[in-house]
Amino acid sequence: MDEDFDVHFYPCCENYCRDWHETNGGEYPPSDHSPMCENFELKEYDRFDLNGTFVIDSVGAFTEFLTDPEYEGGIVTTIKLTEDQFEKLPEFEGF
Ligand SMILES: [Zn+2]
Repeated sequence: MDEDFDVHFYPCCENYCRDWHETNGGEYPPSDHSPMCENFELKEYDRFDLNGTFVIDSVGAFTEFLTDPEYEGGIVTTIKLTEDQFEKLPEFEGF
């Protein structure tokens, strides 16, 4: 896991082991709450993949990309992240 990401540990999570699987192999930031915790809450986001890189935004954010020739070949996938994971995503630097 990327050590640049800040993770808060809450008392509600202290009895849970963390395997960091919510990072999808390090693609996404770790969540603040353990996936076992009752406060772990997933929301849907859209991920747009193009040329080996991706950007994540709210559902529907990439609809116009799909018909834009500049982004030809791009794929939209709906994924689930916690809100804190989404907020910790690095600034997107372009395709
Ligand atoms: Zn928790």
